[in-house]
Amino acid sequence: MEPNDADSATAPPPELSVVVPCFNEREVLPELYGRLRKACEQAGVTYEIIFIDDGSRDGTPNEIKRLSQEDSTVRGVLLSRNFGHQAAVSAGYDHARGRAVLVMDADLQHPPELIPEFLAQWRAGYDVVYAYRRNVPARWGYRMHNWLCNVTIPREAADFRLLDRVVVEALRRMPERNRFVRGLVAWLGFRQIGIPYDQAERVAGRPSYSLRKHLNIRFDSVFSFSTVPLRISVYLGLVTLVLGIIYAAYILAVLLIRGRAAVEPGWPALIITVLVLGGVQLLCLGMVAEYVGRVYEEVKQRPLYVVRELTEG
Ligand code: UDP
Ligand code: MG
Repeated sequence: MEPNDADSATAPPPELSVVVPCFNEREVLPELYGRLRKACEQAGVTYEIIFIDDGSRDGTPNEIKRLSQEDSTVRGVLLSRNFGHQAAVSAGYDHARGRAVLVMDADLQHPPELIPEFLAQWRAGYDVVYAYRRNVPARWGYRMHNWLCNVTIPREAADFRLLDRVVVEALRRMPERNRFVRGLVAWLGFRQIGIPYDQAERVAGRPSYSLRKHLNIRFDSVFSFSTVPLRISVYLGLVTLVLGIIYAAYILAVLLIRGRAAVEPGWPALIITVLVLGGVQLLCLGMVAEYVGRVYEEVKQRPLYVVRELTEG
């Protein structure tokens, strides 16, 4: 996977690569392209725009092909099927050639007009410039994540960020399959700075991120950055063990004092014990399974994404 080499021999790398993952975004692409181009020209940088088609079913690939034929600064990376947003972003980082790489959503919720600000901070010496949404209280997800994990993800940081080439290369060397890019970038360190922005409404199309996908991302982010859930299962086990010992002591005491078993609590105590124990055991098993599953994913060493076609002008 060395897409950078062949190209860099022919043309000097642009200053800025703009990477846009697209999943069923045909309707917004023309407007996005227009505003992106304008923003880049006004910022006065040499640039390339890389559209990653993440297995769209609405003609997005044709639109990308058309744009890349018309404009030599546009390149398209068409994936063989839908691999998910994070994989598409990774494909973008692999194919970008710029000295800095900016990732943004296709739906224009991330305003391209912010590009000069990104560049200003980058030129001021920051390696990671991430945009965060103004006036949004941190959701429980971030709090929980930062509480559980050792890396602190800046609150409400979006997948709208500029990375210096050095950081991109460091990120590409991180081998994990479960890629929660926001977390990986936070883990990497470097000089980071946030810039606020106002999130616009989606211009057209529908958000493709369902609740299930959001939950998946949350799970990925916690289980790939933290072993705290494993420790929680240990604590849960300890608590149930202590409760069990207390209850056993009570039963034995009654047996010794009265000379026969305490029958009063009867089946309620029994059923509660069985249910609670069963629940705790399943929960802990599930947590271990999460990690086993992740280990399995990593061990398989499958590629993160498969490219079907590269389009260039
Ligand atoms: N996206 C993608 N693959 C997917 C889902 C989404 O490449 O499987 C892209 C999508 O085209 C958009 C970005 O990821 O550019 C964010 O998606 P969306 O706007 O649906 O998410 P939200 O704004 O709700 O977080
Ligand atoms: Mg969106």
